[in-house]
Amino acid sequence: MGNSKYLDGLTADEYKALTKKLWTIQNHKCFICGEEIDLDLNPTNIDHIKPLVTGGKDDESNFALAHENCNKSKQDADLVVARAMAKLSKIIKGAEDKHETPSLKHVLASNGGSQFCFTYKIVNDKLSYAFSQTGDDTIRTSEIFYDKLSKEKTAFIQVPLQYLYHDEIINPRGINSSIGLLIKEFHKGNPQLHISLARLDENKIKIFDGQHKAVAQIMLGTKELIVRLFLDTDVDRMIETNTTAGSKLKQIAFDKSIVRQLHDTLYSERIKKYQTDHNLDEDDFSFSEANLVDHFKGERGSIRTYIINSQKNLITKNSDNKLQSYINFEGRGSELPLSYSTFEKTLLSRFINAKTILSTPLDFRADEGLNPRILEKEQLVQLCNILAEELLIGRYSTETGTYRIENKVAEGKDKDITDDHLAAYRIFKEEIMYNWIQYIELLIKNFFSMTGELYNDQNLFQIKFPDQLWTNIRSFVRNLRDLPLWKDRSMASTVFGGKQVYDYWNTAFRTGKTPDGTLVLSKPINVVDMIK
Ligand SMILES: [Zn+2]
Repeated sequence: MGNSKYLDGLTADEYKALTKKLWTIQNHKCFICGEEIDLDLNPTNIDHIKPLVTGGKDDESNFALAHENCNKSKQDADLVVARAMAKLSKIIKGAEDKHETPSLKHVLASNGGSQFCFTYKIVNDKLSYAFSQTGDDTIRTSEIFYDKLSKEKTAFIQVPLQYLYHDEIINPRGINSSIGLLIKEFHKGNPQLHISLARLDENKIKIFDGQHKAVAQIMLGTKELIVRLFLDTDVDRMIETNTTAGSKLKQIAFDKSIVRQLHDTLYSERIKKYQTDHNLDEDDFSFSEANLVDHFKGERGSIRTYIINSQKNLITKNSDNKLQSYINFEGRGSELPLSYSTFEKTLLSRFINAKTILSTPLDFRADEGLNPRILEKEQLVQLCNILAEELLIGRYSTETGTYRIENKVAEGKDKDITDDHLAAYRIFKEEIMYNWIQYIELLIKNFFSMTGELYNDQNLFQIKFPDQLWTNIRSFVRNLRDLPLWKDRSMASTVFGGKQVYDYWNTAFRTGKTPDGTLVLSKPINVVDMIK
């Protein structure tokens, strides 16, 4: 498009004829989105499938027809990659519409996967199997390898998608569009270096590691994947191994929020074990966090950590949490304003009661809606929602994103950046959020001091907030948002250029001036004024 000598040389009639020809070859479908093109109604473009800059030819064999809109908003210059990413975006959106975390599960479901159980037998340390349900009765055999140290038995096999499932227990990770890099990599023809891991669970082959690479290849049209299949593995131990691999051993980039979710599983496992050990019914929660800590004293993993991480996970991944879709869980990409690490360091760590393990029963006052952990979870979700509603929804554009925002503003290339977007981006910078979140804590404490409620530093969110307190919090967030400095574009290269230390903004909020003397507020932030 635009740089094609071939297309530029065509007359209007010839261009029209080529459009018609491609449209027929493509079965009337857009190359990128795969939806119908109506040549009378939809504006279209002819574009190179493989871009000229990467060696694509400027002739008919390398042309495709797409909706003009699809071509404008394509996510990669290479149309095959763009098509894979457009398909993936659709799958992600479909999962999100159902309030589910998009994962390999959804990608398999959309590509004919996860239909059949694995039929196999083991004779003399050989695995024999057939994928008969796909119409292929070939008997295949694979060597079974035995690892003396771990006692794990594994085989390497190539499995059609129909026989593959996503392991939601060991790998609850979601996927997002940052998978684009992997799609590009595989499109180049580069191989998967670390193959996906799977386990046999009641005759189902479940992938528990390498799901991003699996997704990327499936989006490019792969119909079977090579996996290392664990034949008889202990799920608990695999969860632990996988968690440690990500955190302590640092073998793979592992996002912290997933460690939270795994610990969540570990926590519920311990609760079940406690009930079994004490002959309690599974709906009997008459024991406390302190009892659990006591009972599992000798354990390697700390039950205390499991409890807190479980709570963090329940809040972060709560389907009611409107802030969730603005949190970047992968630690890279530049679409979303809030990294999980920032979210954890500012809001979660400040407001979750992590120091005091509760000695009240797990179900204490649950029937009155006053259970401390449940209140803590629900009220923190409510706080997240206020932040999302007042600062982000309809204001922050993921399309504009965060990439080099302040540079663009400083250079005057900021036509597309709205005031609301700029304000949201700045307010959620870690060193800034870390400081304003303290005012929220202060205003809650002030409120309880006035009403005479007994609180301590740790349990603020475990006490039920009256409506008036919620109104105050919302007013504060709104007033914070409306401070002129967030929209001040002249500060892009100074105050907002680069990362400042936490204390920089502490000083700015307390005095109105930054440590280097720049006036950023007309007066210091006063929480009493800010709730009016
Ligand atoms: Zn299209």
